[in-house]
Amino acid sequence: MNMRFLGTGAADIGVPDTCPCANCAAVRAAGGRSRRTYSSLLLDHSTLIDCGPTVPEQLTRLGNEGTTVVHLLMTHLHEDHAGSAAITELCRRAQQRGRTLTLWGGREAGRHVRDAVDASIPLSLGALQPFENVTVGDWQVTPLPARHMDDHPEAFVYLLSRNGRLLLYACDTGPLLDATVAHLRHCRLAAVVMEATFGLKSESDGIADLRKNHLNFPLAVAERGRLMDQGTVGPDTPWYATHLSLHHCPPHDESAAWLARHGLRLAWDGLRWSQQAAAPPDPRSSLGAETVDTAASPG
Ligand SMILES: [Zn+2]
Ligand SMILES: [Zn+2]
Repeated sequence: MNMRFLGTGAADIGVPDTCPCANCAAVRAAGGRSRRTYSSLLLDHSTLIDCGPTVPEQLTRLGNEGTTVVHLLMTHLHEDHAGSAAITELCRRAQQRGRTLTLWGGREAGRHVRDAVDASIPLSLGALQPFENVTVGDWQVTPLPARHMDDHPEAFVYLLSRNGRLLLYACDTGPLLDATVAHLRHCRLAAVVMEATFGLKSESDGIADLRKNHLNFPLAVAERGRLMDQGTVGPDTPWYATHLSLHHCPPHDESAAWLARHGLRLAWDGLRWSQQAAAPPDPRSSLGAETVDTAASPG
C-alpha cells in the first residue's frame, strides 16, 4: 500500500498570507512543512482522493512522473475538496494520455461536478451509495457516512482495501457516526488518515464548527481510542492527522510533537508512506515493513 499526501491543509490555506495571528506568522516565517495545500491523497499512480484547486499544481510540483489519475474519489462537494477547474484539469490530463477520468461520489455530487466541468471534456461518473462496496481500479472501496454538512447523505469517509490491507480515509468529518464505527467493527486497519482541523482550539475559542463538522487534536485522539477499543486499530497502527487549519493549528513541529505524545502522526504535503504486507500475510495484522520517506518534504 502506497500513499502520497499531495495536500494536508483545510479550507483556509490562504489565511496566513495576511493574518497577523501567531500561528499564521509562524507559517509565514517557517514555511516548509508548516505550509499546506488543500487536503488530497494519491493512493497509487492512478487513484486520488479529493481534488481541491491546488491539486493539479501539487501533482506537477511534487514530481509525480508517470501519474495519470483515472479514478477520483470525492469525499464531498466543498470547494477545497472538489474544485471544478482542478477536476477539469485532471480530466484534460487523462484525455491527453488517451484515458477518461472516472469521478466517484454521491449521485447528486457527481451531477453537480459534471455540470461544472467543460462539457467537451470526457468524464465518467461512478455513483456511490453508503455501505456499498465498489471496485475502483485496484482498490475495493466502501463509502461510509461522514458527520459533515448536517450529516449530508453524500458526504463520505472511505474504507479502502487492496491486497487484503485496509485504509480508512476520514476527512471531512466530526466524530465518526455510530453506524460508521459499527461497520468498522470487524476490520483491522493497516493505516488511518483522519482530519484534525482545529488543533487545540475548541468551542470555548469560538469554534462552532467543531464536532458537527470537524475534529480537533483531542477529538482525533478520542476517535483513535474508540477504534482501538473495538480492535479496529492497535497501538502501533499508523494514524496520520491531516486537513489542518493553518490559522488554528500551531506550526508543524509543535503540532507534530503534541500529536506524537498521543500516538498520532502528523502528515505534511509531499509525505510518502508505504507498507509491504507482512510475510506470511496475516489479514488480522497491521504489522508489515513500513517506509516513511522523510525526504519528500517540498521544503
Ligand atoms: Zn475541507
Ligand atoms: Zn491567523
